[in-house]
Amino acid sequence: MTDHKNNCLICGSELIYADNEEDLNCEICGEAFHSKVYCENKHFICDHCHSAGANEVILKKCLQSKSLNPIQLANEIMHLPQIHMHGPEHHYLAPAVLLTVYYNHLGHQDTKEAKLKEALKRSSNVPGGACGYWGTCGAAVGTGIFISLITNANPVSEKSWQLSNMMTAASLSAVAKHPGPRCCKRDTFEALQTASVFLNEHFNFKPESNESITCKFSHLNKECLGKKCPYFKN
Ligand SMILES: [Zn+2]
Ligand SMILES: [Zn+2]
Repeated sequence: MTDHKNNCLICGSELIYADNEEDLNCEICGEAFHSKVYCENKHFICDHCHSAGANEVILKKCLQSKSLNPIQLANEIMHLPQIHMHGPEHHYLAPAVLLTVYYNHLGHQDTKEAKLKEALKRSSNVPGGACGYWGTCGAAVGTGIFISLITNANPVSEKSWQLSNMMTAASLSAVAKHPGPRCCKRDTFEALQTASVFLNEHFNFKPESNESITCKFSHLNKECLGKKCPYFKN
């Protein structure tokens, strides 16, 4: 069992306190540092990222990521200590990883940054518990925010308005295949998979995908559906 509380926040292996500094890049923001503290796998997190909040580390990680695989990127971010088992940070995580892979694929890094910042504003308006109180899972809403951003939709636009609402509807249908209680991991995986199919159908872009998704967080979720969840592996 890896220990992410005392050891490396990325992989859980032991920290090394070396005599000499190494040139290392922060695993979250990607910036270059000299440090004597890193893990056996040479992971290093800078002091700023160490104490940053959830949405900030999602933004920073996405800005420096070159990933084309939304599930893999989401999984990496979910392992960071700022991301709780459940919580409204997943409402930003979903559009953030989708914007990242989409604009990485197009090679538009400036647009990616602008859209990631706008997605943060929009998703911050979707409160925790919206799934149960509004009947609208925030990760599913996040996929609608993503389509709205890449198509520049607004309330009076036509095709882009339609696509954005279709996206949220498709994600909500996928989320609602399962009974509650809510699980922000399961619901995010469902929303991201649905968005990947949608991108292939409507935007001629097939994100890279994992053949089977295995949840690494079941032991943290006291309401886990266990074997009834498609992502559960004991
Ligand atoms: Zn590590
Ligand atoms: Zn950093």
